[in-house]
Order: sequence, then C-alpha cells, then structure tokens
Amino acid sequence: MSDLNLRELNATEFPIPAELQDNVAITSLNKIYNWSRRSSIWPMLFGLACCAIEMIATAAARYDTARFGMEVMRASPRQSDLMIVSGTVTKKMIVPIVRLYNQMPEPKYVLAMGACASGGGPFKEGYNVVSGIDQYVPVDIYVPGCPPTPQALLNGLIALQHKIDGQSLANLNDVPWYGVGPSDPVPIPILGPDIIDPRQMELIREKAAASAAGLPFGTREVSQEVLALAGGTPKVAVAKMEAKATVKVVEDEAVHAERLARRMEALARKRALVNQ
Ligand code: SF4
Repeated sequence: MSDLNLRELNATEFPIPAELQDNVAITSLNKIYNWSRRSSIWPMLFGLACCAIEMIATAAARYDTARFGMEVMRASPRQSDLMIVSGTVTKKMIVPIVRLYNQMPEPKYVLAMGACASGGGPFKEGYNVVSGIDQYVPVDIYVPGCPPTPQALLNGLIALQHKIDGQSLANLNDVPWYGVGPSDPVPIPILGPDIIDPRQMELIREKAAASAAGLPFGTREVSQEVLALAGGTPKVAVAKMEAKATVKVVEDEAVHAERLARRMEALARKRALVNQ
C-alpha cells in the first residue's frame, strides 16, 4: 500500500481538528496491528495446476497484487504468511503441502483456490486426488470456480483481509499464536497405495482388521435385496452378510490354490522344454 490513509486508520471517537486529519490518527492497537498485517501478506510461491495460471495472472500488472502489499511471493515457507493452494491436489502432493504448511511461521493462512483445492473438483473421487485440502490443513478462505478468475481471487484476498481485520489481540481464540506456545504441527500424511492420515490410524487399523477377517466394516446401507432375504430385519441381514463374506473367503482360497497349481504345471512344462 503506497499511500498511508490516516483517516482509514482513525478508529476512535476523539475529535481531531480538520487541519490535522491528514497528519494525525488516534487508533487502537488492534487496528494498527491488523492493518499492518493485512497490508503486507506474503504468499508462498507455488502452483499446482491450471488454477495457478490465474493466480499468476492476478500477480501480473493488470490486476496487480501489489495493492495488497503481496507482490513479493516468497520462495520459502519460512517467510510466507499465506498459502494459496491453486490447483488439483494429488495424493502424492498433499505430503509436501502439509510439510510446507508446518514450516510456515504463525500467523499463517490458507486459501483454497478453485474447485479442485476446495473439494476435489472434476477429479473428485479420482484414485489419485485428494477431495479437498481442508481434510488436511485448516482453510481460511475458499474461492469457487474452475478456474476462478483473477477477480475472484482478488475477492478472496479481500475476504482474507476482512478476516484479519476482525481478529482481536484481546481474544486468544482469534490470535492463538500468542501466549499459548507453538501450535501442534499437522501430522504429515503417509503416501502408500492410498493416502493415510495419521490422525485416523486407529480407525484404519480397526477397519483393516475387520476387512482381513472378512467382516463387513464401516457404516453402509444394507441393500434392499439382502434386507428382503432376511425378512426385513437389519440384524439378521448383517449376520447373513457376514456368513456370505466367510463363504467368499473360502471360495477365494480355493480359486487361489487352483490358480497356483496351474501355474506350477505350466512352469514344469517350460522347464521340461528347456532341458530337452
Ligand atoms: S479447479 Fe479447474 S481450473 Fe482449477 S485446477 Fe481444478 S480443473 Fe484446473
């Protein structure tokens, strides 16, 4: 912000003579503190997919984020206040994103730009895509669109400024980074065949054990067909489903043994051919 607008800062009822109003402001600590923070937000320099192009356009001369004091995108999380998640978040990428978030100093903010970052977008339920960044890090502002226009992103940034304006130094819930020590880092997800949130490890273990035992797990609807089979009683239906699952495990083992025997036979034939 190039011009210091003292009238904007003046937040009290104290009368200031008209001739001094451009030189003197009487304000509260909250107002000046929040005004300085909201006018010098430094976003982190990274983009993930198509939305990043719009973010880059927002930073260029036509839209000019310098008006928000945020023209300097920082290449290090240690110097960034704002993480703009601009694009599709894959399961592989969420791991470094959470790590970068943990490396940002407080106070820090997250803006989910576009449908992908907000909820998975057109790739929701895809095998490799996270259904929203907010499942892993706290999001302050969502900007809808696919992709959002630079104007929409600017609107999101203004919304963030309003959010900062509303935070009070007198309320520790508003400024949790003061007085209560460093906040706990967000657990870094584990990348495997599927992404694992370490906070849900106990639940995952329980479900894996139930699955390994061939039992139905989780909350899911009993199908009408099974319900009809059990005469409309969900309890009996679940028992029948369990019995069905056990039968399936036995069947699977038989199929596996047969397949193994065929493979061994084929191997023996091949060896015999080689030795001829
Ligand atoms: S929201 Fe649309 S434009 Fe943005 S990253 Fe996803 S697919 Fe691309």
